[in-house]
Amino acid sequence: MQFNELGLAEPIMKALASKNYVTPTPIQQKAIPVLLEGKDLCGIAQTGTGKTAAFALPSLDYFARNPRVTPVKGCRMLVLAPTRELAAQIAQSFRDYGRFLKLSVETVFGGVPIGKQIRALSVGVDVVVATPGRLLDLIDQRALTLKDVEIFVLDEADQMMDMGFIHPLKRVAKMLPADRQNLFFSATMPKEIEALAAQFLNNPVKVSVAPQSTTAERVDQQMYFVNQGEKQALLHLVLQSEEIDRALIFTRTKHGADRVVRFLEGAGIDAFAIHGNKSQGQRTTALQAFRQGKVKLLVATDIAARGIDVSGVSHVINFEIPNVAEQYVHRIGRTARAGADGIAISFVADDERPYLKAIEKTTRVKLEVTPLPENFMDAVRALPKPAAPKKGPSQSPQQQARRADGQRKYQDGQRQQRGTPDRAHRPEGDAPAKRPFNRRRSGGGGVGAHKGAVQRTGAPR
Ligand code: AMP
Repeated sequence: MQFNELGLAEPIMKALASKNYVTPTPIQQKAIPVLLEGKDLCGIAQTGTGKTAAFALPSLDYFARNPRVTPVKGCRMLVLAPTRELAAQIAQSFRDYGRFLKLSVETVFGGVPIGKQIRALSVGVDVVVATPGRLLDLIDQRALTLKDVEIFVLDEADQMMDMGFIHPLKRVAKMLPADRQNLFFSATMPKEIEALAAQFLNNPVKVSVAPQSTTAERVDQQMYFVNQGEKQALLHLVLQSEEIDRALIFTRTKHGADRVVRFLEGAGIDAFAIHGNKSQGQRTTALQAFRQGKVKLLVATDIAARGIDVSGVSHVINFEIPNVAEQYVHRIGRTARAGADGIAISFVADDERPYLKAIEKTTRVKLEVTPLPENFMDAVRALPKPAAPKKGPSQSPQQQARRADGQRKYQDGQRQQRGTPDRAHRPEGDAPAKRPFNRRRSGGGGVGAHKGAVQRTGAPR
């Protein structure tokens, strides 16, 4: 099957031709005809399968055939995504595929000033791509209403649940008009996700593509057993020996990601980190630099990297393997996108063996153990010292806020209140409630100088 057999409107075909898309991917072949008929859809598909175009193309076709003035403080289509990066990426796809249509697309997510979003929404837009937290903020401020939504998409539903968005989603469900088309996508469909889907969907057509193990089969998967404390030496050796175009390095926690970046910095290797303690400006800059190939290494936590579509990722390195098996599949799916092959290398410490077992059960692939390199112990002994944590501007707004807070308490003599709780394990992304996510604090400790700059690590080479 080819795109020209689907009967999409001319301006959309033109945009597809300019992107050299000829053959629809399996999810597109299954979903587009159903959606063109105006039916609801429940899709089991992960990122990398082409699902964004699967829902964007028929929606754009609908707009091309049913032009209407945008509703004041409203939108005709609402797409909900779990992270800002994914929301930005989806919006870009709509702009790309809809470039020959007169269409307004607006992103709505936290970490950026709300004023611009309020102004953009005041005249109404065709497509809003949002994360749930900021969307509800705007609705509460009466800057946006959902009563005019004709098409509703919930993307990455399982990730939404993992991030604690269930209550915001239930609120959104109540605000949507009864007469609308609904699309629901999730990489996995356990019972609680099915229950969530039932709240949005009306007699949906169910489509499913590529069971999770399929992606895993396309990736060359390697694994080392290595002590946690020796992983940095191994990373150093792997980075030297592999031919890396672009590598995503995963850790389980934000602090873990920062530690890896500091180590790489100490070894004179450029890398950026992307996680929930970074400001939106930092996250965007890091991702852009990685996309453009200005930096080859991006160290990421799962949630920050979920859904990120960067082509040409040759390697995924699991510095720490995930404690949720599906997350492993998502991680290694960052390489081997759009039919390419890729390499995934996992570092497994003793206490991670149970996670490894669960991963092998899910993927039905037994990872082959690669022996540690011959010069490994030499590398351990010669391990470069990690760079000291940066002070001032390189710290995230949260870190700075905590530091300022701690100092104030100390000065107040409130010793018993010192030692703020460890937030390393908090979920990332936009907070469903009103957490002051990435809010900049003015004054004190050079915080204002932060200005969204990503700390480029490593000495210039
Ligand atoms: P997604 O799963 O939506 O993140 O898409 C994965 C990647 O595949 C993106 O880079 C898309 O631009 C690309 N893509 C989607 N559909 C097609 C297609 N029919 N032909 C070629 N590339 C595609």
